[in-house]
Amino acid sequence: MSFKNTSDWLNFDREHLWHPYTSMTEPLPCYPIVSAQGVRLTLADGNELIDGMSSWWAAIHGYNHPSLNAALIEQLQSMSHVMFGGLTHLPAVTLGKHLVELTAPPLEHVFLADSGSVAVEVAIKMAIQYWYAQGETNKQKLLTVRGGYHGDTLAGMSVCDPVNGMHNLFQGVLPQHFFAPRPECYADGTSNIDTLEILLSKHQDDIAAVIIEPIVQGAGGMHFYCAGYLQQLRQLCDKYSVLLILDEIATGFGRTGTLFAYEQAKIVPDILCLGKALTGGYMSLAATLTTTRVAQGISADTGVLMHGPTFMANPLACQVANASIELLLASPWKSRIAQIERQLMMQLSSCAQYPVVKQVRVKGAIGVVELHQAVDMKTMQADFVAQKVWIRPFNKLVYIMPPYIINESDLSRLTSTIHHILKHLTLNT
Ligand SMILES: *Cc1c(COP(=O)(O)O)cnc(C)c1O
Repeated sequence: MSFKNTSDWLNFDREHLWHPYTSMTEPLPCYPIVSAQGVRLTLADGNELIDGMSSWWAAIHGYNHPSLNAALIEQLQSMSHVMFGGLTHLPAVTLGKHLVELTAPPLEHVFLADSGSVAVEVAIKMAIQYWYAQGETNKQKLLTVRGGYHGDTLAGMSVCDPVNGMHNLFQGVLPQHFFAPRPECYADGTSNIDTLEILLSKHQDDIAAVIIEPIVQGAGGMHFYCAGYLQQLRQLCDKYSVLLILDEIATGFGRTGTLFAYEQAKIVPDILCLGKALTGGYMSLAATLTTTRVAQGISADTGVLMHGPTFMANPLACQVANASIELLLASPWKSRIAQIERQLMMQLSSCAQYPVVKQVRVKGAIGVVELHQAVDMKTMQADFVAQKVWIRPFNKLVYIMPPYIINESDLSRLTSTIHHILKHLTLNT
């Protein structure tokens, strides 16, 4: 069975395939991509789009990179997969060594999961199992902040922002956790962490861990907050005996200007989640790291960590992750990201002049323009594609996080297109 032409397979797609967060009765249009190279996505009609999204934070080296391709081909020729129960292999062990060496010294134990959401599930289980093994069987709740995003599986969803995470729909099945306000830092160096402390002090006997995205809250609203908040959070977690889980699935591997965002606060989490850019955007893979204290704590009383996905530590995914990490470390990533940050600040700040714009924010290789109202996604998406850029707005946000290899003129095309579109946009009243 084959398709006659592009519109034939697009029709099948529309009628049969779910895309992220879409309806089967009123699907939004999808653009057919036939190949990708560097920072360019090629549409079926031959047009090329400059990529502003890195395929959701992941494709940091751009697409179709020769050294990542080579790593995969080489691994494919020896083995693409074996079970990780009772067997092990060099691709996984090499990746474990990279991750242990790159992250803060206390993080020494690695669980290789198959997606970011699963890495979050594993982190939550680690925290609960840790306290359980210490005899603290009531410590099963989590504390988080509003505006977060931690994945789409049930446990991850339960700590997403309760409003845009659609908690109402799943009220009956989602565990109820504690929510502090979205982190806000003030000019005098203080923050709104006091409300979080009140929750911790009241409920510490029931709380296993605080889970939070450090410095940058991603899909829950693209908000940034200060390192000082995280420093205080680390102290509070110690004071009230709860673990600190940092979800760096979006921020990891350089995106905010440091290899990991927690470095900016000079703190170390008890549990760290990585994903997205881990394989340079090639394959689904994620990791949950923890300290010796937590790892040994879980195993007290002969406890075992209760998780083991079928495709755990897939050798292809591990090997492309190894190649991606080596490529990143051998590249001038820090100066590239600093350069992107400077250019984004210079070119996006003036978006604030348009009546539709509420605020412009830049952090590392992330540029965000927040509007006063939600955009008409379908129209704006089509406008961006007509201008030959791939920028996917959501809700009130028009934002970009391009591959680190983007050059000055391609990045200018992204920012000038945002200007062009926002300049002509009017508020609905
Ligand atoms: C994307 C993301 C996840 C979920 O990862 P998936 O691979 O989509 O399951 C979790 N946490 C954060 C911060 C993310 O950005």
